[in-house]
Amino acid sequence: MTVVRCGQLIDGLGAVMPDAAVTVEDGRITAVEPWTGESSRTVLDYRDRTVMPGLIEAHGHMGLLGPGLQLSAAEIAAHVFANVQQALREGFTTVRDAGGIDGGVAACVNTGLLAGPRILPSGPFITQTGGHADGRPVWHHHHGTTSIPGLVRVALVCDGSDDVRRAVREAFRHGATQIKVCVSGGVSSGGGLDNCQMSVSELQAAVEEAQARHTYVHAHAHSAASIRHAIAAGVRHFEHGSLLDEPTADLMREVGASLVPTLLVLRRLIEENDNADLRALLDSMRRSVKLAHEAGIPLGSGSDLLGMHQRGRAEELVLKAEIIGPMAAIMSATSVSASILGIADRVGSVAPGLDADLLVLDGDPLTDPAVFARPEAITAVLRGGVVTGPAT
Ligand SMILES: [Zn+2]
Repeated sequence: MTVVRCGQLIDGLGAVMPDAAVTVEDGRITAVEPWTGESSRTVLDYRDRTVMPGLIEAHGHMGLLGPGLQLSAAEIAAHVFANVQQALREGFTTVRDAGGIDGGVAACVNTGLLAGPRILPSGPFITQTGGHADGRPVWHHHHGTTSIPGLVRVALVCDGSDDVRRAVREAFRHGATQIKVCVSGGVSSGGGLDNCQMSVSELQAAVEEAQARHTYVHAHAHSAASIRHAIAAGVRHFEHGSLLDEPTADLMREVGASLVPTLLVLRRLIEENDNADLRALLDSMRRSVKLAHEAGIPLGSGSDLLGMHQRGRAEELVLKAEIIGPMAAIMSATSVSASILGIADRVGSVAPGLDADLLVLDGDPLTDPAVFARPEAITAVLRGGVVTGPAT
């Protein structure tokens, strides 16, 4: 049994408690109470620190290292594992990998071979011919994207509802815990953000297969039209949403749909290659975040970081806080993302019965959300009550 003494506890559900004590037993939280000054048990003393739930990345791609790379399977594995380890060091105790890696990587973490967050892989992107994740060069027939069973498979290109059903079953066979579909174009696929991709019957096949396994489909969707189209097929979880409009936000609220906007990837793309189109898209996504927040749509937190050396994942919270405030940004990356992922009974807040996944910060993110952009401010990360160390 361990007691974590917290100078300030942010519980992930909207409450703040000064000078708190979190009791941890067998990896679970058993009590959250005011610090009484007395404890005969082992104490992790963070009396001058902020303690909060471990962060949740609801939209990562730890296996997408970049197009056209000439890497061996060993090098790909090494890069993927480095991305996984880095996510945990930066305070992320749960990552939904929204396309790329499969169940083999999650198994490495689950069996203790690899120090990393709990991983919920979406497996390969399910995409139509010529769709967002169809990575073939336009004039080639053969798929050039990486596929190494047990490690990474970027996409399954399929057409027709039977073909989608087969692809979705294949994704589940390789350890997907939910299914990712592409219903609009995207930035990395060179445009078509206002397109609708995949037919309603194709999407229905994916939703049926997911529901049969008590899980769900989430959709890469930039345009409002693509969101409405996917809602008609039963999809309730959306990614990006950069071109959201008011009627669609209202429809999303009515049907209980969620949105995971992804601000950081756009910020990074602008840093690499500043242009007016990307700036306009980031501005538009900011408006979508505000609109969705005001409409009462659950907003998850996703960085959408890509490539090798994925660093600074928590900057997503800094960008989000600029729009909806620090407390809402923190809840977005903790309890709200946990609800969207369907695991709020295990993670996402500091409460008895939940896993002791905690982030300890040297600073107060409520008054200084930029603390999330400073890895050196991470004092400790606990996953299941075990201190895994600070960021390096
Ligand atoms: Zn993505």
